[in-house]
Amino acid sequence: MPVYKTEAIVIRRANLGEADRILTLFTREYGKLAAVAKGARKPRSRFAGRLELFTQLRALLARGRTLDVVSQVDVIDPFAALRADLARMGAASFVAEVTDKATPDREAQPAIYSVLRQGLRMIAASDPGMAVMWYAAQILSLSGYGPVVDRCVVCGKMVAGPGAFSFSLGGSVCGADRGRDPEAVPASAVALAAIGFLREASAAALSRISLQRRQRAEVEGLLRRYLEYRLEAKLRSPPVIERLSRPT
Ligand SMILES: [Zn+2]
Repeated sequence: MPVYKTEAIVIRRANLGEADRILTLFTREYGKLAAVAKGARKPRSRFAGRLELFTQLRALLARGRTLDVVSQVDVIDPFAALRADLARMGAASFVAEVTDKATPDREAQPAIYSVLRQGLRMIAASDPGMAVMWYAAQILSLSGYGPVVDRCVVCGKMVAGPGAFSFSLGGSVCGADRGRDPEAVPASAVALAAIGFLREASAAALSRISLQRRQRAEVEGLLRRYLEYRLEAKLRSPPVIERLSRPT
């Protein structure tokens, strides 16, 4: 069987048969793909502890007839902090679920791999809530659905002050055009500006933004609903803001 090397992050895993695991890997070189780790659930498996959810690894895969097979694994970063508490676990699960739903199989998307890795790093080391919002805005943009928030998506007029956000039109709508989408929801000026910032900002710049708890909930809610609209799917992972006990 021909083999190939790749760098990847485990975004989903499930049991298969008696002792195997099936993994969904988001790889740097080939995008999303599924692979089988044979015998991974046996206590003495050479994969033991190396294929946890969110682990970043270097893998040697062998092409199979239906599914590729994991043949060797080196852990780059176990991201153990992501599995250590509920808030981080919830945030990382959200990011993994969105990545899985937003990407097709075997289409190289190195930019998404890069923001996925940065998003998980941020969840592990800093502010999980902010990391989730940043990741949502980034993957929307990289998928071609970056929300337009500095002007009306219909007429292009600059929008200042509180307005409305249309999921179907992909951004802010001015008072005159709000009727174009009866489902448009109210959005505060702060939330719209924050979404614009999250869309453009690098991960390193995120400490420059500070949002109150209520504003975070609004921004997360808007991004989440917009993602669900674009993905045509309900997201299973619960909102992250509700899981964070630390008030801001
Ligand atoms: Zn307008």
